[in-house]
Amino acid sequence: MKFAITTKGDTRSNTLMQKMRTYLLDFDLIYDEDQPDICLSVGGDGTLLYAFHRYSSRLDKTAFIGVHTGHLGFYADWVPEEIEKLVIAVAKTPYQVIEYPLLEVIIRYQHGGRETRYLALNESTVKSVEGTLVMDVEIRGQHFERFRGDGLCVSTPSGSTAYNKALGGAILHPSLRAIQVAEMASINNRVFRTVGSPLILPDHHTCTLKPVNGQDFQVTVDHLTLLHKDVKSIQFRVADEKIRFARFRPFPFWKRVHDSFISDSD
Ligand code: NAP
Repeated sequence: MKFAITTKGDTRSNTLMQKMRTYLLDFDLIYDEDQPDICLSVGGDGTLLYAFHRYSSRLDKTAFIGVHTGHLGFYADWVPEEIEKLVIAVAKTPYQVIEYPLLEVIIRYQHGGRETRYLALNESTVKSVEGTLVMDVEIRGQHFERFRGDGLCVSTPSGSTAYNKALGGAILHPSLRAIQVAEMASINNRVFRTVGSPLILPDHHTCTLKPVNGQDFQVTVDHLTLLHKDVKSIQFRVADEKIRFARFRPFPFWKRVHDSFISDSD
């Protein structure tokens, strides 16, 4: 089996990475940064986002494992004290694969040209480069509302505990193939109106944003921020691809939510 390790880059994560790499090589696993069967991410949830984007073109071939060297994570669920146990499990045990849905983002441009496609593990946000964001929001090809405000955030179920949660969105279990659209400070008064609640769309629905004034937008995809010019539309839907996690023990999602946001004791 071929493996790769990505690290947050701090001393603690790097030391742990070296240790794991040595142990796994001792078990005759092969280190292959380009085509790993397993990618171990050492750091935090942010580190796993980087690892995901590094291998996003081979998601059907690379499974992920997260080790956290800081606080408990949603994607990084092993602690440094457990790495001997983890290494033996990776080397010896056939692992179970858990799949989580991803978000597909397609940006189309005014003057034709090639569309751009991204996959997000957490979310994609759209903000105006200057002033208020004004977008017509279509759901499943039908006009839904004209949004005016700071921006819109479209998240995956596993990303629902990140930026989406800070915007008052719901937490979605990652077994649900859905995406969630959350508003950032919408303008609501007697003239302008938006629904005001987060929307959860099933996997056969699309949400498309069409610019009303201005065509340049700041679009984020997880940790990446990209400036897009001459935008005609931005379409979101549940992606056909999924992220695969290698699981060696149960780690229930609601326990992670509880331990992260309520208390880490029982
Ligand atoms: P960052 O600003 O350095 O860290 C963002 C924080 O979000 C970190 O504490 C990270 O955990 C945590 N996080 C990442 N994915 C999560 C998830 N699925 N559930 C719960 N917490 C999660 O940025 P970054 O490390 O490059 O990560 C980019 C992410 O930051 C974006 O995808 C977005 O979700 C999030 N973000 C949140 C806000 C907000 O809450 N107001 C604003 C902007 C961006 P670790 O410390 O374990 O890495």
